[in-house]
Amino acid sequence: MFTCKNCQKDRTEEKKFEKEGYPILDCMQCGHRFADVPYNPAHVEAVYGDDYFEGGEAGYSDYLSEGDMLIKRGKYYSKVLEKYTSPARILDVGAAAGFLLKGFTESGWQGTGIEPNPKMVQYGRKQLNLDMYSTPLEDFESTELFNLISIIQVLPHLYDLNKGLEKLASLTAPEGYWLIETWNKDSKMARFFGKNWHEYSPPSVLHWFSPDSIRFFGAQHGMEVIATGRPSKKIGAGHAKSLINYKLKDKPLLKSIFSISRVIPDQWEIPYPAEDLFWVLLRKK
Ligand SMILES: [Zn+2]
Repeated sequence: MFTCKNCQKDRTEEKKFEKEGYPILDCMQCGHRFADVPYNPAHVEAVYGDDYFEGGEAGYSDYLSEGDMLIKRGKYYSKVLEKYTSPARILDVGAAAGFLLKGFTESGWQGTGIEPNPKMVQYGRKQLNLDMYSTPLEDFESTELFNLISIIQVLPHLYDLNKGLEKLASLTAPEGYWLIETWNKDSKMARFFGKNWHEYSPPSVLHWFSPDSIRFFGAQHGMEVIATGRPSKKIGAGHAKSLINYKLKDKPLLKSIFSISRVIPDQWEIPYPAEDLFWVLLRKK
């Protein structure tokens, strides 16, 4: 018996498998897939301390060196949004050092970013001249409403998903938008790799979604899906190598196949297989 992290109901859930010692479950009531990780008030701090951004492994090998690429990504999404709305107030949730937000502000949006890691926030404020606050989403208070909330690869990390989504809904202006980018648990890649899919990495990642489940969660909070797509993703070669080494740490044979990647300079941008990544644009009803 478990309590679902989405619908909050006590249900007998179907256990899919175990990862890093945590059970991965599907709720039989609402279909949500999540990790059963005990509540830990220090979760955000423990998982997203400076090591997450600098230590390699599941985080960013050297997050700051990815700045230019993230700025381009913010511009890419601004372009996507042009079809639906004109630039207004944006809140970027889990903004890290603010590069993605910078891409939006350079495209005409007026931005605010929130991020639990104080060092990242300090960088965004000082180096990128952004309006940023060091806080987890759950504790963020604002008297103004936002026309767009960007949640780029952040939703899977929220401990209390339902509470987080309620918070987002309360910060969204009438007819405002959510832009969500996350990994697709129903993608070919996820199904092919099964429990070895790279996104099954609790306790940093706690929830797994699909375009259908985003539609379902959105509707629960008064948001309707108006567009979906797949971003073309490029990442720094240094980051890719760090990820490969981490994901394959117990698989020496596969690791030796990928060792060819060592000859690629860290500063190169390489396309990252993005079949399992998607974005969804939702509008408040
Ligand atoms: Zn549920």
